[in-house]
Amino acid sequence: METLATSGFAPDLLQGKVALVAGASSGINLAIARRLAAAGARVAMLSRSAERIEAAGALVAAEGQEVLARAADVRDFDAVAAVAAEAAQRFGPLDIVVSGAAGNFHAPAAHLSANGFKTVIDIDLIGNFNVLRASFEHLRKPGASLFSITAPGAEVPGLFQVHANAAKAGINMTVRCLAMEWGPAGVRVNALSPGPIANTPGMSKLAASPEREQALKARLPLRRYGDFDDITNAALFLASDLSRYVTGTVLDCDGGMRLGDASADALSPPARG
Ligand code: NAP
Repeated sequence: METLATSGFAPDLLQGKVALVAGASSGINLAIARRLAAAGARVAMLSRSAERIEAAGALVAAEGQEVLARAADVRDFDAVAAVAAEAAQRFGPLDIVVSGAAGNFHAPAAHLSANGFKTVIDIDLIGNFNVLRASFEHLRKPGASLFSITAPGAEVPGLFQVHANAAKAGINMTVRCLAMEWGPAGVRVNALSPGPIANTPGMSKLAASPEREQALKARLPLRRYGDFDDITNAALFLASDLSRYVTGTVLDCDGGMRLGDASADALSPPARG
C-alpha cells in the first residue's frame, strides 16, 4: 500500500482522541483510519469480514497505534452497537466517528433487481444510520465529530448508479438532520464526498479499463484522480477541532466532479456562423 503523508500537517492533531471507523478494511476508509492513527488517535475499526478487518487492524497497529478491529455488519444494529460500546470501554468516549461502509456495482436500472436496490440501501443508507445512532450513547459530549462518506452522485444523477446515488442522497439528508438534533449536545455531523480516488476498490469496479479511466479524468475540472493524501487531508479537517464550527455540511473533495462535464469538448464554444 502506498505511503501516506504523516507529517507536515499537524502530526499530533488528534493526540489522545478516540475514533471509530466503519467499513475500514480497505480503500478510502482504511486510509482514513491510518491517517487518524498517524495523527495520534486510538482507532476502533469494523467491517463485515473478520479476516479483512483483522488484517487492516494489524496494519494500523504495526504503524504504532492502539487498535481494536472487529467484524460487524452495519445492517445489524446490535453488532455495531457492541463494537461502539467495546471501543468506548477500552479507549474512552468516542471523539470521532467515520461511517463509510458501502457496496457498489454498475447496473442499468432496467436490469437491477429490487433486491439489488434494497441491498445497497440497507448497507449504505440504513447501515450509515446504524453506525451514527449506535455511537451516540458513547460520544464525547460536547466535542464529538461524526462524518459519513458520501459521493458526488448524491447530488448529480448518473447512469447505472440509481441504487448507490439514492443511498448517498439519503446520507446527505441524514447528516443534516442529525446535525440539527445533536448540535445542542455539542456533537457535529458532516459528510465527506470523495471524487474518484486512485487505487480503491470503488474505482477499479466503476472505471475498470484504462480507456474508461482516461475518459473520466478528461471530464474532471482538475483532470486527475484524487489520492489517499487528498482525501485524508479533508478527513483530518473534519475529524479535528480545525472544523469546530462546521456542522451539517457536505465537504466536497472531488476534483470538481459534481460541477459537471469539464472536458475540452464540453467547454469549447459553439462555432460561429
Ligand atoms: P471499499 O474499500 O470497498 O470500502 C468499502 C468498505 O465497506 C470495506 O471495508 C467493506 O469491508 C465494508 N463493508 C461493505 N459492506 C459492509 C457491511 N455490510 N458491513 C460492514 N462493512 C461493510 O471501497 P472504497 O472504494 O474505498 O469506498 C469507500 C467509501 O468511499 C464508500 O462509502 C464509497 O461509497 C465512497 N466513495 C468512494 C469513491 C472512490 O473513488 N473509491 C468515490 C466516492 C465515494 P468488508 O468487505 O470487510 O465488509
